[in-house]
Amino acid sequence: MSWPPSPDLLAPLAPWFDQMRRALPWRATNLDAPHPDPYAVLVSELMLQQTQVATVVPYFTRWMDRFPTPRALAETDEDTVHKAWEGLGYYRRARFLKAAAGSIAAEGWPGDLDGLAELPGLGPYSAAAMGAIAFQWATPALDGNAFRVLARLLLIAGDPKVRAAELRTWLAPALEAHGPSRMTQAIMELGATACTPAPACGTCPLADRCGAHRAGRTGDIPPIAKRAKAKESALWLVALEAEGQVLLHPPSAKGLLAGLWRWPALDATALTPQLTAQSPRPIIAWPGWTQVYTHRREAVSPLHIRLDARFKPAGGLRWVLREGLADLPLGRRDQRLRDLLPTPGQTPLSAPDPRALVKACAAPSE
Ligand code: SF4
Repeated sequence: MSWPPSPDLLAPLAPWFDQMRRALPWRATNLDAPHPDPYAVLVSELMLQQTQVATVVPYFTRWMDRFPTPRALAETDEDTVHKAWEGLGYYRRARFLKAAAGSIAAEGWPGDLDGLAELPGLGPYSAAAMGAIAFQWATPALDGNAFRVLARLLLIAGDPKVRAAELRTWLAPALEAHGPSRMTQAIMELGATACTPAPACGTCPLADRCGAHRAGRTGDIPPIAKRAKAKESALWLVALEAEGQVLLHPPSAKGLLAGLWRWPALDATALTPQLTAQSPRPIIAWPGWTQVYTHRREAVSPLHIRLDARFKPAGGLRWVLREGLADLPLGRRDQRLRDLLPTPGQTPLSAPDPRALVKACAAPSE
């Protein structure tokens, strides 16, 4: 194939997408005009960062019912916004979305790609996708799926990301020719459905012109990036309850878990379990699980211990009414223990001494 090939190479994608596209609640019916609700595109773009389409759909629908406009979202308090995001993970996206909504409510939508990229939470990819899908700008959006499709189609060996600028220049005329929104979503759709890491080339509208397919190189284009080994840790996730209240860390203002309440999580290697037959009070446990994060895996052992009286907690912990738990935004791991509390658990054979758990959560003078 001579370089650069004609962007017409992508032409079969447009009718394929018109016919095959999945009905997603944020997609406009008319792909030849600007989207009737750019805010819906913004919400979907933020939710789709790091999260699968099938998970996002019900969240998106509830979110749009609850916060139908940028102003409605901007005027809602942060706890309520986090609560609505609960379960989607990567909670700073919720704060970015609220901040972006505030900016849009105050100043209107930006008029160009640079302005979109300045909205909180929109990196170069999301801004370009917004530009194309919401406003019909010929702003090529390259995410992992798009890089994979284009690398294979154009038989690009090596990491296609190093050729991002060149690929954007190549893609822009195809966006102009077939409609920026249609072509952007068509590439995304192909990457999500047919041109997956193990591609289904038999269903692909580009199979007759795809360099990697014709060369039998779909297995090594693009090369698989080596992942750093995830860090492993083990912890006791503890619900200490006394006088109708439970002990939690209130939300911090910064960091990955900003805005979220958390259970005390105690290093399992520092608190050795003992036989619970010797325990001074009953301990309830449920089967543990592995919580997987991008670069980390936690072996979580959930526990519930009832105490007779509250104690003065260590700085950074607070007693809250157990009946108010459902209204607090919690991350996925901590939600899981909250949801276990009303279910029957078991007395484990061994667990840490509750006095050691209390000591780890109590103010130094206790
Ligand atoms: S033919 Fe196969 S490898 Fe090429 S773009 Fe289509 S699905 Fe991807």
